Parts: sequence; structure tokens; C-alpha cells
Amino acid sequence: MKKERVKLTAAEKSELFAEGVITVVLLLLLNLSIVILIYLTILQNQNLVNGIYFLKKTITFAGGRHLWSWQNTFLIMMGIADLIVLYWRLIRRYHQMQLRHVISELHYIAQGHFDHTISFKVKTDLQKVIDSINSLVASTVNAINEEKAIERSKDELISNVSHDIRTPLTSIIGYLGLLKSGVADPKDQQKYLDIAYMKAEQMKSLAHDLLDYTTLKSTSTKLSLTSLHIFSMLEQVAAGFEFEAHEKGITFSIETRPKELTIQADPEKLVRVYNNLITNALKYGKGATQIKLIANLVNNNEVELRVENNGAPIPSSSLKKIFERFYRVEPSRNTETGGTGLGLSITKSIVELHHGTISCESGADWTSFIICLPLNPKNAKING
Ligand code: ADP
Repeated sequence: MKKERVKLTAAEKSELFAEGVITVVLLLLLNLSIVILIYLTILQNQNLVNGIYFLKKTITFAGGRHLWSWQNTFLIMMGIADLIVLYWRLIRRYHQMQLRHVISELHYIAQGHFDHTISFKVKTDLQKVIDSINSLVASTVNAINEEKAIERSKDELISNVSHDIRTPLTSIIGYLGLLKSGVADPKDQQKYLDIAYMKAEQMKSLAHDLLDYTTLKSTSTKLSLTSLHIFSMLEQVAAGFEFEAHEKGITFSIETRPKELTIQADPEKLVRVYNNLITNALKYGKGATQIKLIANLVNNNEVELRVENNGAPIPSSSLKKIFERFYRVEPSRNTETGGTGLGLSITKSIVELHHGTISCESGADWTSFIICLPLNPKNAKING
């Protein structure tokens, strides 16, 4: 924002002018009285006249010039003193006016215009006050925006959850209604039961994810850290998906460098991270044949954990959003994959609880989820 000087109102300009005129008049009167007083004193004292004459003779400037005349010199000095006093009075009054402007701007802000910043600049310490007010305004605006965002996201959460509950519930009620009323064709009955059951399962997983999500978001969630041998954990996690992967013709590969890589982490939560990422790779990796679980020691403090799958990539426009809660790349929120859009948000929350970061890269061949974790989250907390 361009900063301007304080713009004085017409009344203030007149006030400043009046102050100037009064000061000049007072100074002239003062000067006159001083001059008269000095004249009287000097004229009554012949010694002083002689002394001044002697002084004038002895004071010589460059080029041998003498003092011009003591009266004129004295008058010039008095004139300079007058100008200084005049300037000091006017600038003092001007600063008072600046302060008045700042106070009236403060009143304006206090009336509820919390996004109003003071746009003028001054050359005194008042600028520090103005800067503090402006930064206070900026942080108030941020706080208000954050509050609004939280409010919006709560509304969004409620509306998404209501939608995700209502849709399967409508199907369940519909199919159960058909079965209850006895109008359903007996050969369709099993199909209706299956659909109702599947929808109920979907609701259960939503409730489950939602609970996990809100628990992880709560500030009181604690990690129970233990020493975790990554290779053994990855072997166990992969074994849990062996059947599903085999059905889809997908093979797992596990690589940890060094082989005995061990980190401090919450095992239950980290397994949840892997479960989410591997489920996604199996569910969304269209045409995938391979899932790689890789863990590398980056340096003395950090490890990089990667879950990679080949197959159809994630569109680059979606990459930034996939960690947002309820975001799904699939256009419909109720495709046959049946996700809640909370999986990656939960994953991200767990990683962040460990003071780590997660990102995703997706190219023509591979989609990779890359997690950076501190070797020991406790140290990361102290350092960070
Ligand atoms: P959900 O809980 O519905 O599975 P997620 O938050 O886990 O949702 O994932 C968000 C979206 O990211 C999914 O809708 C999916 O389209 C996309 N996605 C996640 N993992 C992969 C993957 N490995 N390959 C392709 N798309 C993926």
C-alpha cells in the first residue's frame, strides 16, 4: 500500500496558520522589548559602548574584514532564534495533529472496521505506534479469516457427512422396505439384502473414518512411541494384503536401506498409514501390477518412506487436493470404490503427529506417496 503524509483538513491548516501568526506577533513583541532593554542598558553605560567598539575592532574575518555592525549581527541572530522558535512551535502543533489523526483512525477501527489499516506515514516515533496498529489489524484480519474458514469447514463437514450418511441410508431403507412389504420378487431378495448390507458396511466405514479423523485432529491425541523395525513391519502389512493383491495380479516388493532400519514411531498409527496407502494403491491404481514399499535413511535424523504403485496416474490437477478431507478424484462421491475421501486426510494427520510430511508424485509410470519422518519425533519436537 502506498503510504502518504497526513492530509490536514482546512480547519487544521487555518489552526496552523493562526498558530504561526500568533507566534510571530509574540516573537516580534519579545524582540522589541529585548532590543529596547539592551539599548537602554548600553546607552547608560559608556564603558560597555567602548568595550563593544573594542571587540568589533579586534574581531576580524578572513580577508581582514571587520564585524559589520553589532546591531545588525545581533538582529540577525535574534531573527534566526525566532525562526527556530517558530519552526519548533509549528512542528509541535503539526505532530499533535498527526496524533489526532491516528486517534481518529483508531476510533474508526474500534467501531468495527477491523480490516482498516492506517495508510499515512510520519517521521516521528508515532510511526512505531502506527506500524504496531497495522500489524495488530493484520493479525486480527487473519484471526477473523481463520475463524471464518473453520466455521466454513465445519459446515462443509456436516453437509458432507449428512450426504454420505443419507445416500446409503436411503438405499438401505428402500431395499429393506421392499423386503419387509413382501412385494420384492423372491429371486431378487438376496440381491436386495446384499446391497443393503454393502451400504451398511459403507456407513460403518464412514463412521469409523470420521471418528479417526476427528480424534487425530484433536490436540490431545498422543503418540505411543516405540522402536519400530521397518522391514518387519512392512512384511507384516504386505502379508495382510497378499490375498487381495494376488486376486488383482499385483506383486509387492519391499526395500529398506539399511536393512535393519529402525525408527521411533507409533506402530498402530503407522500401520494405519500403510493400510490406507496400500488400500488406495489396490483400489485406484488402474492397471497396476506392482506395489513398492521403500524406506531409506536420509540422514542422522530423517527417514523417507515411499509407497509406490504403477498404473493409471492421478491427474495433476487433483494432486494438490487429494490430502484434503472428503476430496475424491472420482467425480461421484459414490462410485463402486466406495471411499469416504477421508483416507488421505487421516494419513496426513498421522504423519503430522509424528512431525513428518507427506507428498504425492504421479507420472505416466508410477504414483508415489512420499513420507518424511524424523527418526525420533520427540527430538523433532524439541528442534522444531
Ligand atoms: P478414500 O478414503 O475415498 O479412498 P482418499 O483420501 O484415500 O479417499 O483418496 C483421495 C483420492 O485420491 C481418491 O479418490 C483417489 O482417486 C486418489 N488416490 C489415492 N491414492 C491413489 C493411488 N495410489 N492411485 C490413484 N489414485 C489415488
